[in-house]
Amino acid sequence: MKNYDVIVIGGGPAGIFAAGFAALQGAKVLLLEKNRRCGAKLLITGKGRCNVTNAEEDPRKFSEVFGRNGKALLTALYAFGVADTISFFEQRGLPLKIERGGRVFPGKGKASDVQKVLDRFVIESGIELLTSCTVRKLHSEGGLLASVDTSVGAFSANRFIIATGGLSYPATGCTGDGYDWAEQTGHVLIMPEPALVPVLLAENWTRELGDFNLKNIHIAVQQNGKNIVERFGEAFFTRGGIGGPIILDMSAGIRDALKRGAVNLVLDLKPAVTVELFDKRLQRELAAHSNKGFRNSLGNLLPKDMIPLFIRLSGIDPETKCHSITKVERIKLLSLFKKLELTVTGVEGFKKAIITSGGVSLKNIDMRTMRSKKLPNLYFAGEMIDLDGPTGGYNLQVCWSTGYLAGISAAVS
Ligand SMILES: Cc1cc2nc3c(=O)[nH]c(=O)nc-3n(C[C@H](O)[C@H](O)[C@H](O)COP(=O)(O)OP(=O)(O)OC[C@H]3O[C@@H](n4cnc5c(N)ncnc54)[C@H](O)[C@@H]3O)c2cc1C
Repeated sequence: MKNYDVIVIGGGPAGIFAAGFAALQGAKVLLLEKNRRCGAKLLITGKGRCNVTNAEEDPRKFSEVFGRNGKALLTALYAFGVADTISFFEQRGLPLKIERGGRVFPGKGKASDVQKVLDRFVIESGIELLTSCTVRKLHSEGGLLASVDTSVGAFSANRFIIATGGLSYPATGCTGDGYDWAEQTGHVLIMPEPALVPVLLAENWTRELGDFNLKNIHIAVQQNGKNIVERFGEAFFTRGGIGGPIILDMSAGIRDALKRGAVNLVLDLKPAVTVELFDKRLQRELAAHSNKGFRNSLGNLLPKDMIPLFIRLSGIDPETKCHSITKVERIKLLSLFKKLELTVTGVEGFKKAIITSGGVSLKNIDMRTMRSKKLPNLYFAGEMIDLDGPTGGYNLQVCWSTGYLAGISAAVS
């Protein structure tokens, strides 16, 4: 059986960083990935653009978005923070750009460029990489992990890093194997749940606007007529409902609220102006098209693709001359722009979840080294740890930071 200093299981962002930085410390490293290529999930991140990190460089402020568990991330962030991530990619020839909300993307907006840098890092760091290799079982001896059985044979090592991700988007290879091994080796597992998920709606018409981007809108989540949570930003309709950054970030609150009763979303498509001002704008548009049919009057207010749908939802006959539209009809039209009510029927599951919340309990990991408190030669990195943040590049930064720290710690241990 071939022996290594460090075996890393899982070739996602966390596993590649852990393996690469361990190898750069001089360790003999084997990286095992079940897919034919590393980083399958990375390619679909940020809608194919990969939001690599968030520009918030203060580790304390960065960690706050992770809620109560955030503090545990601090050592990893000080070891390899946002600035380190940015220079890692830029020094390897990939310029990055910062967008709204501090979201950092590759210059040309292609996730494949990020994957190429990681592919080169694997080569440059001298890792031995085995793809199409599924790890099936871990073996312990004398209170330490000793070897792994895989689809292509067994390998032994002095130290192991598990970075097999969560349960979300299982088609990318994330089937929760690492969670099973963690439990089998005595670690507490905080119940994994789908997080950052699109929301399902009763209104069928949203299908007609599939993936249509709604930029700069305001959405309030309401229960019993009261706002529970609200956000301003970007969303888009999906086949069965609505997704996009602001919905994903509110999805945990929506799921909790659904346990208590009915939930509505109220969309304001023109949040920069008050209802009164927008009503005046609407009146001006209708007056300007006074002798034209209603169907031709909304061009200045809506993207072309949305107009037929809005006409239908307004209930106004498209051939009606604008001067004949009644006040009641106009007020109904106004409410489509300023108070569009949608009925939530549920939230999506793991298949459509951006990340998995829960995972290996932070109480079982020494977060200064990422080493297990149960097995002294085992380390964890990435999404499989009980840390989940909002959209905006925070979750990939967890992978870079914890992957780096696990790799360095395992190599020098
Ligand atoms: C659609 C989508 C968009 C996203 N967009 C963003 C974004 O823009 N910014 C952001 O910060 N985050 C984003 N995320 C979240 C981010 O992709 C994850 O947090 C990140 O990929 C987790 O990295 P990881 O290395 O921990 O695990 P993963 O990337 O899940 O990698 C784990 C690897 O382990 C392998 N593996 C699993 N089991 C075994 C086994 N038994 N043997 C061998 N190999 C195994 C898997 O094949 C996989 O390659 C997005 C997620 C999704 C699904």
